[in-house]
Amino acid sequence: MTGFQAFLKGKCPQCHRGNIFTHSLFSSKFREVHTHCSHCKVKYESEPGFFWGAMYFSYALVVATVVFVSVIIYSTQEEPPLMSTSAIVIGTSLLLTPLHLRLSRLLMVYLASPYRKFRQELSEDQKD
Ligand SMILES: [Zn+2]
Repeated sequence: MTGFQAFLKGKCPQCHRGNIFTHSLFSSKFREVHTHCSHCKVKYESEPGFFWGAMYFSYALVVATVVFVSVIIYSTQEEPPLMSTSAIVIGTSLLLTPLHLRLSRLLMVYLASPYRKFRQELSEDQKD
């Protein structure tokens, strides 16, 4: 499994085996994170409040969604009504909130923790 595949599947950045999240995206507990990797025992929340930094990634994802949806609406219609455009943009952002929160936590674990590098010896997939 490549690093990008592990990222998309929410796997540990160090061994690409253990799950980061405790529940699925469609559960009410979609943003809960395991404290340690079940396979290599790396600690995901390296310091108290580590995942507060994910708010910056989440903010960027929401802004990107708002811009993307707005561009699509304004490029397909000549003069879209402001209220319906706003409703569509806000609705899309709210619907994507669980995905944004999970992606922001994944980005935090993968990008803001440079000491966590992939260790091939911990991945059983690489031994075959
Ligand atoms: Zn691991």
